[in-house]
Amino acid sequence: MIIRPKVRGFVCVTAHPDGCAAHVREEIDYVRGKGRLENGPRNVLVIGSSAGYGLSSRIAAAFGSHANTVGVYLERPPAEGKPATAGWYNMAAFEQLARNEGLYAGSVNGDAFSTGVKKEVIDLISRELGSVDLVVYSLASPRRTHPETGWTHKSVIKPIGRSFTDKTVDVDKGIVHDVTLEPASQEEIEDTVAVMGGEDWELWIRALAEANLLAPEAATLAYSYIGPEVTWPIYHNGTIGGAKADLLHRAQRIEDLLKPLNGRARVSINKAVVTQASSAIPVVPLYIAILFKVMKAKGLHEGCIEQVHRLFADRLYHGGALEFDEEGRIRLDEREMRADVQDEVARIWKEVTTGNLTELSDIEGYRNEFLKLFGFGLAGIDYERETDLLVPAR
Ligand code: NAD
Repeated sequence: MIIRPKVRGFVCVTAHPDGCAAHVREEIDYVRGKGRLENGPRNVLVIGSSAGYGLSSRIAAAFGSHANTVGVYLERPPAEGKPATAGWYNMAAFEQLARNEGLYAGSVNGDAFSTGVKKEVIDLISRELGSVDLVVYSLASPRRTHPETGWTHKSVIKPIGRSFTDKTVDVDKGIVHDVTLEPASQEEIEDTVAVMGGEDWELWIRALAEANLLAPEAATLAYSYIGPEVTWPIYHNGTIGGAKADLLHRAQRIEDLLKPLNGRARVSINKAVVTQASSAIPVVPLYIAILFKVMKAKGLHEGCIEQVHRLFADRLYHGGALEFDEEGRIRLDEREMRADVQDEVARIWKEVTTGNLTELSDIEGYRNEFLKLFGFGLAGIDYERETDLLVPAR
């Protein structure tokens, strides 16, 4: 089958197996190029490992630190005439490449919020690894079925308290327009916390601790974002920000739980990058397109793999004490938040329109990154060639 990108709103409903594999290899090459990480993690569980920050975390652990990894994700496999989701191809490629390297790479494709998947992962770790010394929690999901109540909570991206109007961009059409978002109801606020907050992270760590699968000094991380004030009504002060505040609160409880092991639980504040999750948030893609323009011009640009490599090499496993901000969070967003970067972004934000979008922002770079998430636009891939959808069968 010849596979072409089919973009529908903020998703691409097709994915290219060879392109996804090339994307995974690109991240592996980056990590390899940085050299072997001494004292890095040995056995790592990544929850949400098939895309974005979770994928880069799995790659940085395996190829930067020679770690065995278990990945959990929710992806659709290929069917006759229908490509798999990109994450499924990413994981197929990762597993193959990790095994070629002599590394253990086990995966569970299922709902990470469920008790059944937690049990499956626990069985896998106890059988194959014995314990894990790092657990990365990198889920981004629109819904969660609660394991006890059976209720399905849906997360919303809305402001809290009052409505909000600002610029956003239709990435595909290149149109800058205003968007108004009505404030979330109390129920929507609570639902978003139930999905994107820290309850499930805590359930995972409790389950692993009860099964005695956490190594001494085990660390666990969850990812979050703060960003500049222009995004605050929709992010930091909105429903998603409420969920992230819960994540931080849970980190403290999890760290208390890990005290007997001398373990650590931290939230890492990462920079804004193009992922399937971030492209679904209004306002944010326009901000990212402008941010890319400014950070690239200043030689500061980073994607997921550069961020996670820095997280491992300069923060978690650099051999010294772990540095936090005043709220105990690891900060990887210091380049994005530099005053000169944000002043420039704020100036452009006021001026940007449909007419000057290409000139004032890196919308082209944004589009390329977006398509790359689905395996399109990678060098060395012949997109005109008939492609086998069922990769592992090859
Ligand atoms: P992503 O969309 O690229 O990846 C999400 C992952 O979650 C995928 O592996 C997917 O399979 C998995 N997943 C979703 N629902 C699942 C389920 N029910 N069961 C199992 N797996 C499931 O997302 P991302 O942008 O990398 O986000 C990961 C984390 O990083 C989030 O907490 C996000 O808030 C945070 N973060 C993102 C950005 C950004 O700009 N994208 C910035 C800072 C922090």
